Amino acid sequence: MSSSRRFAFPRSIVRVGLAALAFAALAPGDGLRAAGPGGGRPAANRTPPTFNLGGVAYTDVRAQFALIGYKAVYDAAGGSLHLRGSDGNEVVFKVGSREAKLNGLRLFLGEPVLVHKGAPVAATIDLERFVLPILRPARITRKPVRTIVLDAGHGGNDSGTRNQARKLNEKTFTLDVAKRLQTLLADGSWQVLMTRTDDRFVELADRAAFANKAKADLFISIHFNAVAAGSDVRGTETYVLTPQFQRSTSSAKTGPQDKVAYPGNRHDTRNAVLGYHMHRQLLAKLKSEDRGYKRARFAVLRLVDCPGVLVEAGYLSNDAEAAKIANADYRGDIVEALYAAIQAYDASVGVPPGP
Ligand SMILES: [Zn+2]
Repeated sequence: MSSSRRFAFPRSIVRVGLAALAFAALAPGDGLRAAGPGGGRPAANRTPPTFNLGGVAYTDVRAQFALIGYKAVYDAAGGSLHLRGSDGNEVVFKVGSREAKLNGLRLFLGEPVLVHKGAPVAATIDLERFVLPILRPARITRKPVRTIVLDAGHGGNDSGTRNQARKLNEKTFTLDVAKRLQTLLADGSWQVLMTRTDDRFVELADRAAFANKAKADLFISIHFNAVAAGSDVRGTETYVLTPQFQRSTSSAKTGPQDKVAYPGNRHDTRNAVLGYHMHRQLLAKLKSEDRGYKRARFAVLRLVDCPGVLVEAGYLSNDAEAAKIANADYRGDIVEALYAAIQAYDASVGVPPGP
C-alpha cells in the first residue's frame, strides 16, 4: 500500500469523521465500557484505580490482571512483566516499551508500559480496547457474521507497491488472494462481496461505502507492503483502526487528530479480536517474520461501520519475499490463513453461543 493513497483524506471523509464524532458521544459502541482521555470509567468496587501520567490514564497491570485470575511475575531489574491465565493465554509487557507479546505475537500498544510507585502500569485504554478483549472475547456481545466484504487493495491505474526488478504489482496479488478467498468462503453460510473483482480503480471512501451499504459484518482489506528496493525488511503486519484518544503505532506522540472518532471506532473491541486472529493465523501459516499487530487510521478502516482489518501479508520490496508472494501456492497459504482467521473470529464473537 502506498502511503499517499493510504492516508488520502477527501473532504467527504472529513464530514463523515465529524458526524461520527457526534455519534460516538452518544453510542458507546460494541459492548464494552468506553474509555475517555481521563479514564472515564465508573467507580466500581474491585476496579483498580486509574491515575493520570502525562495526560494519559494509567492503571496497575498486575491488579487489573489479578481480577481475571492471571498470575503475574514481575522482574523489576529486567523490566519485564509476565502474565499467565488459567486459559493458557500469556502476555509479556516490557517497561518503557509500547511493544508487548501476546501468545508469542508482537503487539503494539498506544502508550508504553511505565513504572509508577514501584508497580508496572499500562494505559487503561490499551488494556480495555486492545489486550483484554483479545483475552476475554466472551465479554463482547455476540453478533452473527452474515456478510463479509473482501477488499482487494489498489487496482487500475493504482498499482500499489511494486517490485520493479521482478515486475510485480501489488494490485495483481491482492485481487488474486481476494478472489480465492471468496471461493473458499462460498462454502460457508456467509454472503461474500468484493469491492472489486477485476483490475479497476476504486476510491478508498467508495470501498468503505460499499461495505456500509451492504451492511457488512466484516471488512477484510488485503495488501502487500514495500519499502525501498533491496531492503532486508520483510514479514507480515496486521492493522486495525486506532481507538479514539490514542496515537497510531507509527506516531511518536499524541496530537489533536487522535481525538476524532470514526465509524470504525464503534467496533474497537471486535477489531481487536479480529486483528489478533488474522495476525496469528498469517504468522502460523506463512512462518513469515512478525512485523507486529499494529493500529493505524487507514481510510478504509476509519470509514467502515463494522469490524475491519487490513493485512500487509508480506513485502514486495524484498526479493526473497516477493518471489514467495509471486508463487500461487504461497498465496494459497495466505488465503487459508485469512479463512481460518475469519472462522476463529466468528467462533469467538460471531455465532451465538450454543444451547
Ligand atoms: Zn497496499
